[in-house]
Amino acid sequence: MVIRIRGRALPHGEHVDLYADGDRWTTEPVGDAVLVAEGWLLPGLVDAHTHPGVEEFGQRFDDDMLRDHLERHVDAGVTAIRAPGLAGDPPDWFGTDPDTPRAWHAGPWLAQNGQFIDGWGRRVDHADLPSVAAAQAARSGWAKVVADWRAEDEVVPVSVLTATAEAVHAVGGRLAVHSQHAEGGAAAVEAGVDSIEHGTALDPDLLTRIAERGIALTPTLSLAQAGLHRMLQRPEADRNPARVAAARAHPGLVAAAAEAGVRLLAGTDSVPHGRIADEVRALAAAGVRPHDALAAASWDARAYLGLPGLVPGAPADAVVYAEDPRGDLDQLEHPIAVVLRGRPVRVRP
Ligand SMILES: [Zn+2]
Repeated sequence: MVIRIRGRALPHGEHVDLYADGDRWTTEPVGDAVLVAEGWLLPGLVDAHTHPGVEEFGQRFDDDMLRDHLERHVDAGVTAIRAPGLAGDPPDWFGTDPDTPRAWHAGPWLAQNGQFIDGWGRRVDHADLPSVAAAQAARSGWAKVVADWRAEDEVVPVSVLTATAEAVHAVGGRLAVHSQHAEGGAAAVEAGVDSIEHGTALDPDLLTRIAERGIALTPTLSLAQAGLHRMLQRPEADRNPARVAAARAHPGLVAAAAEAGVRLLAGTDSVPHGRIADEVRALAAAGVRPHDALAAASWDARAYLGLPGLVPGAPADAVVYAEDPRGDLDQLEHPIAVVLRGRPVRVRP
C-alpha cells in the first residue's frame, strides 16, 4: 500500500502533499495511494534521551521490555530515539525493525571507578577512557561518559574528557556527557563534547560558549521537576539543599539556554516510556517558545541526528495532528496518525 499525507508541514507551515515511495517521501503522485491523514504534519517526534529495555536501576537488559518500550514511544508519535547509555547490547532489530523507531545509541554508559549505578555501564580508568569511548563510537556512532555523579565524587578531569572527545571525533563519532554538577558541566564545555545530558547546575555564564561550540543540551527538564517534587516531599532536614537549588534553577537555565542560541534536545530519561509530550510542555512552561520546544522534540532533533524533515527524498516518517500543536501542545497527546518508514503504524479511527 502506498500512503499519502497532506496538510501543513512544520516548521514553516507550508502546504504539502506527500507520498511514501517505500521509505522516502516524494511529491510525485503515486497511483492508488491511500490518504491516511490530513492535518498539521511533523516529521515525527524524537526522544533524544531514553534508556529502553530496563525499568529499574541496575536491571538486566530485556528484549521483550525493549520492544514494549519502543512501542510506547511510537504510540506517542516518536519515530526516532537516541539512547545515551543502554544496559546491554541491543538486538540486531533495534533501530531497523519496521514497527519501532529509528534509533541511535551509545552502548553502555562509561563511568569512573566507584561511580554510577551498580550493574549498569562500564567502569573505565582515565588512561583508557579515550580509546574505550572511541571504540564504542566506532561501533554505534556515539559514546556516553558520566562526567560527574555524586556531589562529593571526583569529576572526570578536563584533560581526560578533552582527549576522549578528540578520540571519539577522530572515528567520526559523537560524545554525550552526563552532568548534574557545575564542575562536570564546565569540563564538558571545555572538552568540546557533542551533547550535555541533564546539565543541571550548569554555570549560566557558559551558555554563550555552549552555543558557540555547537554543544547540544538535553535538559531532561520534566525528569528534573519530578525529582524536585519528590525532594520537596521529604522533611527539610533530609533534603540536599544544593540539589534542590539546582532543580529549582533548571527551568530558568533552560530558557536562558534557548535565548543564548543553545540547541536543545527533548529527552525524557524516564519510565513510563512514550512521555515526550511532558518534556515539550515542560520546556514551554519554562519559557522556551512552543515552536522551539517542538523543534527540540522533532525537526531540529532529527536534523541533529542527520534526518531531514518533510521534504522529497527524506525518510518517510511523520506524525499528524488535527490542529497546529504550537498553539495547543496538548495536541501531542492525540496524534491522528503516525507514519514510520512509509507505513502507517498508528492511525486513529
Ligand atoms: Zn539517562
